[in-house]
Amino acid sequence: MSTRMPGRNFLFVPGPTNVPDRVQRAMMVAMEDHRSSKFPELSVSVLTDLKKIYKTESGQVFIFPSSGTGAWEAALTNTLSPGDKVLASRFGQFSHLWIDMAQRLGYDVEVLDVEWGEGVPLERYEQVLRADKRQEIKAVLACQNETATGVTSDIGGVRRLLNDARHPALLYVDAVSSLASIDFRMDEWGVDLAVSGSQKGLMLPAGLGILGVSQKALKAMDGAKSKRCYFDLADMIKANASGYFPYTPSLPMLYGLRESLNMIFEEGLETIFFRHHYLAQGVRAAVLEGWQLKLCAKDPKWYSDTVSAVMVPEGINGAHVIDVAFRRYNLALGAGLAKVAGKLFRIGHLGDLNELMLMGAIAGAEMAMLDVGVRVAPGSGVAAASNYWRTHDPVPKRKVSREQQFYAAHSTGSIQG
Ligand code: PLP
Repeated sequence: MSTRMPGRNFLFVPGPTNVPDRVQRAMMVAMEDHRSSKFPELSVSVLTDLKKIYKTESGQVFIFPSSGTGAWEAALTNTLSPGDKVLASRFGQFSHLWIDMAQRLGYDVEVLDVEWGEGVPLERYEQVLRADKRQEIKAVLACQNETATGVTSDIGGVRRLLNDARHPALLYVDAVSSLASIDFRMDEWGVDLAVSGSQKGLMLPAGLGILGVSQKALKAMDGAKSKRCYFDLADMIKANASGYFPYTPSLPMLYGLRESLNMIFEEGLETIFFRHHYLAQGVRAAVLEGWQLKLCAKDPKWYSDTVSAVMVPEGINGAHVIDVAFRRYNLALGAGLAKVAGKLFRIGHLGDLNELMLMGAIAGAEMAMLDVGVRVAPGSGVAAASNYWRTHDPVPKRKVSREQQFYAAHSTGSIQG
């Protein structure tokens, strides 16, 4: 006999996120010939529409049958040569893993270690870049949203300091847990390589590594001597030109992506960013005002709108909270990783979500914390989040058109006649 209660599992890890029913249905397809004359309709439409998500007109977007880690590798190996100098900062498990990959691929990485809970150290980047008079640094890496600590960094700021230092290095950004949920502006910020994956803001299962590449980065491919094969952009460019892939693509994932893009455009990217901020603010109210706990993010300027890492009090193991939430309440919370293992749990608030879904996560986390001895006031998290959401707009205020004014006036009877 199963001890699990009926009803849905509450999935609140910061990826994979909840896949909307519409997307799940769109993925239930019979297999097709990926070399048919019809196939390019689908591939070209998703590749073109992903550019809107990246906010790029001049760049090109690629889809690999991989996770985000594959897109990390594609970004580095297509544009660098072994021994090339790379500047990167480490402030969480994901910024660490990208650095680790760059080192294992044979690049010479200058690592700026930052306290976990802070983000990309702009001033230190600026010092290093200005000191690099011979412009030996070829790549500058920045993790826009460090999922392990719930910290968002200023990518426009990295571009500004590269420009101010007149430094020609390519800018590589990890947008895995930010794309389609926190604003990302590939062209405006001059991002050269923008890495993402399918299982976060795009609301799909894991399985697609997505990479935005600027024209400058495409040119850098010619001189890049790193070995590459499966992730060689040259093969992808050749096949994509006629709407095909150099190997067998995952059809259900592409159909799912088509539907998730439809949903994103129906809601509107800016409205999605607004919703993520609004939902995140409610979660932060629960943590800070309700439970009176701390976030891992050290300062409001680092707060992430897609994931909150909640510090548990001394003497409590965060893994215990997560385990009780999962086994007793069917709620999946994110674990503390590496340096912060046991010290926190994470609530993912990205993708297909609304207030009451998040209320389930807040209530469940609160119950699990009480069960393992965290002295939070029962109901306090839910009350604080509810106060926030009840008193704030969930969508941006729109300018009211003349037509809407006319109908509004008619419906209140203020126009006679
Ligand atoms: N970068 C960030 C910020 C992530 O959150 C993740 C995964 O959670 C990755 C990279 C790695 O992506 P994947 O697990 O899809 O390979």
